Amino acid sequence: MKNISILGSTGTIGENTLQVVASFPGKFKVFALTANRNIHKMQRQVLEWKPRYAVLSCVDSAKILSDNLREHSDITTEVLGGPESLEFVAAHEETDYVMAAIVGGAGLLSTMSAARHGKRILLANKESLVMSGELFMNEVKNSGAQLLPIDSEHNAIFQCLPFDYASSISSSRASIKRLILTASGGPFLNTPIEKFSEISVEQACNHPNWIMGQKISIDSATMMNKGLEIIEACHLYDMPLDKVEIVVHPQSIIHSMVEYIDGSVMAQLGTPDMKIPIAYGLGWPERIFSGADFLDFYQLRSLSFEKPDYDKFKCLTYAKEAFKQGGVYPAILNAANEVAVQSFIENKVKFSNIPEIIEHALDSCTYEYDLTIDSILRADFECRKSLRKQIGIKKWPI
Ligand code: NAD
Ligand code: MG
Repeated sequence: MKNISILGSTGTIGENTLQVVASFPGKFKVFALTANRNIHKMQRQVLEWKPRYAVLSCVDSAKILSDNLREHSDITTEVLGGPESLEFVAAHEETDYVMAAIVGGAGLLSTMSAARHGKRILLANKESLVMSGELFMNEVKNSGAQLLPIDSEHNAIFQCLPFDYASSISSSRASIKRLILTASGGPFLNTPIEKFSEISVEQACNHPNWIMGQKISIDSATMMNKGLEIIEACHLYDMPLDKVEIVVHPQSIIHSMVEYIDGSVMAQLGTPDMKIPIAYGLGWPERIFSGADFLDFYQLRSLSFEKPDYDKFKCLTYAKEAFKQGGVYPAILNAANEVAVQSFIENKVKFSNIPEIIEHALDSCTYEYDLTIDSILRADFECRKSLRKQIGIKKWPI
């Protein structure tokens, strides 16, 4: 029996994880559930799963949840409040597996905590790896943690690599020509850039293939999601940037590919359903039932491929530039993107302003040589503060 702590249990990935876990009552036990402030959803999850701990980052919400649960005499769940409690459950000695599914930089410290304590980490929270890169990968190596990528592209690549890739990374890497990340292109693949300033939040969240949280849906619409995923792939598989390529594949059936030096290409296919990578991460090295639909090849439309348009989706270029710069630049990229997306959701800026805000933040960044978690958190904080102030004062662009 493996104890699972789900960071971000009320989100799309969190709920999909619980759906997979529900099929295996003898194999997995929900040890801790965490969320930001969604008291009602968390209460429902606690009543159903009866975890040891329920954490809400918002302390006031945690108090309300705790009061509400007193009416249920059969519930012994301990309710904790505050962001430090996320790290506590991630590091808890009885936690075996950590599903890292908080959205954004808010997931950094708890995901790090899981890495430092040698857990099996099911990594959905790509932002934490983008921000902390090598520091995170070093924590994983030093503690002996098992890192299983849940992002569908990276999970696909994991499945297409030799089984012992992680242990023989340098020799395996020599046999790889490139990692090919597929991208759906999002809802605006065929929308002319001139129309980008008119795009509404609702349109941006209407992804053609995947059902996802609001932030990652908007990231898919700007293609920043793919930019973050390039950085994620470089770190996870210790690959140089020029060996990671994007191919637009609007049907989202091939989830990514590995091309080898002999000309072979390994691909992983499946319906666009996150329960597949989640089940893979939970069951690895075995395969377990995910509950996802099976592919029907006779129903499939043709599979098509095209080049990404870097002029239209500028976030792709900014992500590559930030990775090349290194240091705190990827953290600045991420922080600026989070502020820009949130400002777009709040109707303070237009969809077309998102890449402009990110470019401005990267241009204003000064290089820090001493890369530590503290310097990353400081850069993240300063970037958010300065952008919020600028966006609050005047309409973008400044
Ligand atoms: P979501 O918005 O549906 O859920 C986010 C979760 O994070 C919620 O449980 C929320 O309570 C929690 N959260 C938000 N802010 C928090 C804070 N400050 N402190 C603590 N908890 C906080 O997001 P999602 O779509 O489930 O995505 C989660 C992560 O997985 C993201 O990093 C995303 O990029 C990644 N991911 C998602 C998908 C997908 O299909 N949804 C696919 C690949 C990767
Ligand atoms: Mg993805």
